[in-house]
This record gives sequence, C-alpha cells and structure tokens, in this order.
Amino acid sequence: MSEFLLANESTVRLSFFLGVLAVMALWEVAAPRRRRDIPRLLRWSNNLGVVVLDTICVRLVFPVVAVGMALVAERHGWGLFNIVATPAWLAFTSSVLVLDLAIYLQHVMFHAVPALWRLHRMHHADLEFDVTTGLRFHPGEILLSMGIKLAVVVVLGPPAAAVLVFEVLLNATSMFNHSNVRLPAGLDRMLRLIVVTPDMHRVHHSIHPSETNSNFGFNLPWWDRLLGTYRPQPREGHEEMTIGIEQFRTRRDLWLDRMLIQPALGPASGYPINREED
Ligand SMILES: [Zn+2]
Repeated sequence: MSEFLLANESTVRLSFFLGVLAVMALWEVAAPRRRRDIPRLLRWSNNLGVVVLDTICVRLVFPVVAVGMALVAERHGWGLFNIVATPAWLAFTSSVLVLDLAIYLQHVMFHAVPALWRLHRMHHADLEFDVTTGLRFHPGEILLSMGIKLAVVVVLGPPAAAVLVFEVLLNATSMFNHSNVRLPAGLDRMLRLIVVTPDMHRVHHSIHPSETNSNFGFNLPWWDRLLGTYRPQPREGHEEMTIGIEQFRTRRDLWLDRMLIQPALGPASGYPINREED
C-alpha cells in the first residue's frame, strides 16, 4: 500500500486535488450556503493563479519536499520514529496527528506575529468564501510553512506514506472546509466531531477579530476544542456575516498582482490576535 502510494505520488496528489475541487465546485452550485456577489471568473482565475505560482516557487526553492525528506530521514536514521522502534500503525497514526497539531500551532502563530500576519492576511482578504479560498495562500506563507514542515519531519522521522496521506488529506479538507456548501445542521454537528466543516471554518473568516481568532484547525477539529479556540457559530449567522478583513475590500484587491504585494501594504498593527475586542 505505502509502496504504491509513494511510487505514484504525483498522480495520487493531482487526482485528489482535481477530484475534490470538481466535487466541491459542483456541490457549491447545487447547494450554496451564501449568496455569491462577486463574479466567479474574477476570484477563481486569480485564486487559481496563485496556486500555480505557489507550486512553481516550492519547486524552485526546495530540492526535496516533505515526503522526500521523510525518506532521507529514514535512510539516515533521523527523527523519533527512526530511532525508537515503534509498531508501524502507531508511527503512522501519531505522525498524522502530530503533523496536524503542528499545522494548527503554525496557523495560530501566523495570526499572532505581525510579520507573519502580513503574509497570512492575504488568505483572509478574500471577500468571499469558497473552495478556491482554501487554496489561496501567499507564496511567502507557502515557502515558510514548507520549511516548518521539513523541520517537523526531520525531528519526528514519520513514515513517508504518512506524510503523503497527511498532505493529500490536508489539501482535500482545506478545499472542503472553505467551500460554500450547505450541510443539514444535524449532519454538520456530527461531522464536526471528526473533521472541520465549512460552517466551523467560516467563523475563522469573519471580519470580527474575535471570530477570526477562533477555529484555527484545518483538518481535525479537536485542537481548537482542546486548546480553547473553538467558537461554534458566527454571531451574525452564516448568511449575514461579513467575510474578509477590514483592509483590502475592493474588487481590485482580488487581482493576483495586488494579492502578491499585500504583505507590504498598510500597517500590520491592529493585527487580529492582539486587538482590543471590537
Ligand atoms: Zn487564518
């Protein structure tokens, strides 16, 4: 199983990416949660443009990425699971859990540190919330988080297949939990016990700082509950709430060139996590 996954890494990644993107896009048309005001063409072309740019940047900067680094660590005996003999299932599941916790903590840090918030706020400056929002990250944030992930892999020594499963899962859940889909309330409540749902994550994209600073989880919903950052619903309701941040609220701000220079524009003071409550 893991040999098959690793031998077909790029096919596995690309099929899940395109498959989940297509399913969520159709689902958004069939059962939307919120009204759409901005033409899809404007947001989608620019949000997907940033994905292409991010992919090129990662290829250019890193000779190996996370899965490759896990194989290098295994060969050299680096990291916890390559030093301590651990049953395969335990190494696999704890690796996925630890990687997810690391992404949660990194996300909190991107909100807390002003210079990092400058990069991450581009993700939050999207004026609507749909499947492509889940892919819209500044190349600077993508490169930094890859660096952090490589460091976690070197220290943890996870099985390479666990890293691949984690990355494919994170990519899929990020598209799912940013999508503009309506789920029956009961189903949402049940799903929320095991995965971050669109209604749960939409709270994190509210214009109100107290709501932006909650629900940092991308994949598993447990870290927010355990670490006190869970907020069940937005105060104005999902249909009425305003998406985005106070800066960058024009349609021109949704263009790729503007997105890329956003980290350099305006103050990072009043960055959400340390703000006076609105
Ligand atoms: Zn965020």
